[in-house]
Amino acid sequence: EYIDFKRIVHHILDRFDFTLASGDVPKKYTIKRELTTRDIYVEIDQDRMTQVIDNLMNNAIKYSPDGGLVTVRLIDTQNSVILSVTDQGLGIPQKDLPHLFERFYRVDKARSREQGGTGLGLAISKEVIEMHGGRIWVDSIEGKGSTFSFELPFTVFDLDDEGWDDFE
Ligand code: ATP
Ligand code: MG
Repeated sequence: EYIDFKRIVHHILDRFDFTLASGDVPKKYTIKRELTTRDIYVEIDQDRMTQVIDNLMNNAIKYSPDGGLVTVRLIDTQNSVILSVTDQGLGIPQKDLPHLFERFYRVDKARSREQGGTGLGLAISKEVIEMHGGRIWVDSIEGKGSTFSFELPFTVFDLDDEGWDDFE
């Protein structure tokens, strides 16, 4: 099913802003949106993709100080779309980076236990993204913050200036 990806992202972020405004949050945050002005259509499982973005957002908030800034960027390339979530939180030690997407892997067990969670979010996210033919990765500097990104390929057809291409 082809879905307007930018709309989905706006919806999800609206929900985070709404929750914040309701005051029912353990921690405050500011979300900054940097989303391409172009419409982006991708063939995705909307519920699972929502689960992925939710997890990246929840992580960004959970592993940041109160009032942290979370920047969500959506860009399109020739044949893919890239979504990234950047925080200015704890960051992740270099040595942990290769393991982050493994099941139950958590940086600093003691700290993570306090924060709650199972350590499954990123493993599931990776599964979902790869199921869609994409990839997911992280850039992080300990003490400065992290950026989690995923890239999804456009599939089957292209929309050019003349309208719909033949896509048999
Ligand atoms: P849950 O299953 O509820 O998502 P979790 O958030 O601990 O639990 P993951 O989302 O898989 O599990 O993340 C794995 C670990 O990676 C986290 O425990 C945390 O140590 C580290 N991590 C993930 N995102 C960030 C982030 N934005 N900043 C710092 N550390 C992070
Ligand atoms: Mg998580």
